[in-house]
Amino acid sequence: MSPPSFHDAGDLVAVLTIQPLDRTLDYKAPEGGCFAGAFVEVPLGPRKVMGVIWGPGQGDFDRARIRSVIRVLDAVPMRQEMQEFLTRAADYTLTLMPAMLRLATRSPGLGDPPSMRKIYRRGEGSPDRDTQARRRVLEVLGEYGGLAFTLGELAQTAGVSTSVVKGLVKQGVVREEDSPRDLPYPHLDPALGGVTLAADQAEAAATLRAGIRSLDYGTTLLKGVTGSGKTEVYLEAVAECLAQGRQALVLLPEIALTAEFLKRVEARFGAMPTEWHSGVTMTERRRAWRMVAEGGAQLIVGARSALFLPFRDLGLIVVDEEHDTSYKQEDGVMYNARDMAVLRASICSARVVLASATPCLESWANVETGKYARLELTSRFGDAELPEMRAIDMRSEILPSNRWISPTLQRAVEQRLEAGEQALIFLNRRGYAPVTVCRACGHQIGCDHCDARMVEHRFLKRLVCHQCGETRPMPTICPSCEAEDRLAPVGPGVERMAEETQALFPEARLAVLSSDLFGSARALKAQIEAIAAGGADIVIGTQLVAKGHNFPLLTLVGVIDADLGLQGSDLRAAERTFQLMRQVAGRAGRAERRGQALLQTHQPEHPVIRAILSGDEEGFWRAEAQERREAGVPPYGRMAGIVLSSPDVQEVFDIGGVLARNDMPLRQIGAQVYGPAPAPIARIRGRHRVRLLVKAPKTAPLQPALARWVAQVKLPASLRLSVDIDPQSFY
Ligand code: ADP
Ligand code: ZN
Repeated sequence: MSPPSFHDAGDLVAVLTIQPLDRTLDYKAPEGGCFAGAFVEVPLGPRKVMGVIWGPGQGDFDRARIRSVIRVLDAVPMRQEMQEFLTRAADYTLTLMPAMLRLATRSPGLGDPPSMRKIYRRGEGSPDRDTQARRRVLEVLGEYGGLAFTLGELAQTAGVSTSVVKGLVKQGVVREEDSPRDLPYPHLDPALGGVTLAADQAEAAATLRAGIRSLDYGTTLLKGVTGSGKTEVYLEAVAECLAQGRQALVLLPEIALTAEFLKRVEARFGAMPTEWHSGVTMTERRRAWRMVAEGGAQLIVGARSALFLPFRDLGLIVVDEEHDTSYKQEDGVMYNARDMAVLRASICSARVVLASATPCLESWANVETGKYARLELTSRFGDAELPEMRAIDMRSEILPSNRWISPTLQRAVEQRLEAGEQALIFLNRRGYAPVTVCRACGHQIGCDHCDARMVEHRFLKRLVCHQCGETRPMPTICPSCEAEDRLAPVGPGVERMAEETQALFPEARLAVLSSDLFGSARALKAQIEAIAAGGADIVIGTQLVAKGHNFPLLTLVGVIDADLGLQGSDLRAAERTFQLMRQVAGRAGRAERRGQALLQTHQPEHPVIRAILSGDEEGFWRAEAQERREAGVPPYGRMAGIVLSSPDVQEVFDIGGVLARNDMPLRQIGAQVYGPAPAPIARIRGRHRVRLLVKAPKTAPLQPALARWVAQVKLPASLRLSVDIDPQSFY
């Protein structure tokens, strides 16, 4: 790419700011000029705002009134490829550029001058008086060569008080210096070498390495059951990338994954990578952002937003568990990190590795058309086998009311406990009970602001709306008929399963893994590690357990309700159920013992349940692909969800109707519009919601048509419209 252009002082420049405007603003380049891409501060009305020099000014303002850029911020200018990435991502997701810029500048104190801190090194001469403590300080400084320490680090490493160090500073034996706070991350050594790869692993690794060496864009789907060594294989690609001097990014779906993962990276490369996710402190965020831009961070492990970091030279993006739904951001800028990873890589000539045991249908389809390459690891590493999978037909099990663990499952758990092994009870539902009903009048307690029922959380002693987060104390009186003590829980959540399990196995040590039971990611990590080490006999969990944690002692998985995901109108219901069940089953028997997975179901003959049990993956995907092809839905057609919301129910339906009737821009590209219909959750936080669905042929230019279509209608200020391209869920 060509070097960034330079704008001399006084030249007109276009500045993209983070203010929600749909255009850039012209300013005069500041004293000393500035490069394209420079982060700057500009005046906007009475305020100062942050922006980026986007290019030459447009010149459509009165030149006399154009103001000057206030100052250029002390940050590496945005690279041209980042500008291109943000622009194309904005076009794809129909997002205004300022919102994209905000994603790309999530670093606190971007405009601050580099902050300094005191560091300590070996100075000249020897101390006037030789003491044990002083000698230890000098030893530490000698031992670590030229390495600098902070006061605390040095004192701690030497095992002395800070006053000893300060005494040495006075004599010049130890030197005190100012050093920038944001230091590069420790060097990762790609040559350290990992495990000895099995034949199929080695072949896959060689292919990925060759891809990295090509210095060309390319995406590869790396498929293999849990435990087949996908991580080992893609770490080889990371090693090759680092050896080329380029940066690598590994995206993981959940913070909880990183504890185990970071340790593996450290073992493989000799140092910890750079982390980027919501659990990272402000100081570290600032350091990470800067070091990614300056090249002082080689490997970043992070959540989806890490895609918007200012990489200096990105050579590889790994999207681990690529099918995971958390890669889709559902509010604000609605993007899918998997797709954006591919876009970003294609712009900067990087490779993408999508790793999964259960790839999404979109990725299967892209392999089929040759857009992605495919590598497959066919066996679990070592002796671990896939678990045996069986259905428990709930129609022939006899259970007391308000019990969900069938006698068959109970016996299986007993056997595992006797053998000293772990069992997992899986139910993908948080809380105690999904519904609270009044036995006097039949009223079900709902949220005041949403069309959702309140979920009892006994642990918190509250009712919680899973839609809007509204909570209230558990009532004792029915809000409808005011009968006292007649409210009863209906159906199970994990908390209720814990209660039932404890009653059935009073001696067993239980651990409940549900995202809402942990105050912090750290507490969750600690719990996961404790379980892996054998700190529990029975684990009760939601989908949190499905995501790649290693529980070597776990040999039985009992799925309480395998039918749960098959209901609902989501076009991906079958796919999700298939993936989730296989992942959960993949938890069993990862070490040397073969595991078993038991699925409680009322419809063992359902095609999805049958495909899960028989392990006929290709068969499942073929059938699913066929159905979607016939329906013309993703990935064989395009879709967009438009949600209108307003406090006024009449207004949303009126505007929705106007849009539906004026569908010419859509018909021109062969697209159809469905609706308006009440959104599956018809009210959230007091706003009524109406949804339109747009279906278009695969190759239709959907976004420009949507933009033209929506622009026809003048929206009242009280109405909000959001467009979701390739919607994943429809609330
Ligand atoms: P996946 O990412 O497919 O779930 P992993 O890469 O995590 O699989 O491998 C599963 C386990 O097997 C890990 O503990 C890993 O270290 C180990 N493993 C995989 N391949 C090898 C190998 N060739 N040599 C030694 N250990 C291996
Ligand atoms: Zn609510």
